[in-house]
Amino acid sequence: MDNQEQCSCSEGCVDRSTLVSGVGKNIKSVLCQRCGSKVLCPGMAVFTEKELFLPSMRKKTTITQSEGSLDGDTLTTHWLVDDMYTFENVGFTKDVGRIKYLICADCEIGPIGWHCLDDKKSFYVALERVNHA
Ligand SMILES: [Zn+2]
Repeated sequence: MDNQEQCSCSEGCVDRSTLVSGVGKNIKSVLCQRCGSKVLCPGMAVFTEKELFLPSMRKKTTITQSEGSLDGDTLTTHWLVDDMYTFENVGFTKDVGRIKYLICADCEIGPIGWHCLDDKKSFYVALERVNHA
């Protein structure tokens, strides 16, 4: 589990051309990285770029307990969904301010995505936090 940061893009990097269709939709299914639970079916989300801060991946119960000392990543590439019923499976953390984080509905690892209570039609799933198959 001691992964070094790799600069070569041969593996591990998000290759957009294999993930994003000509109209900007997801070509592949979006899956949980830990348990493989299906989050989105192909063609259901729109590729979008937006800077969002997501805390480091952990179990649901600890996501909201570390306020003030959040370590995490600013992620810029996401799948955008405008309706929560578009998801095959997804869970949410409790509110963190105006934010809810998306988590895997099965194993509850997350956050895999981001949702703001001020915008009911925007659910973001970070490409780097999910698998594509
Ligand atoms: Zn899972």
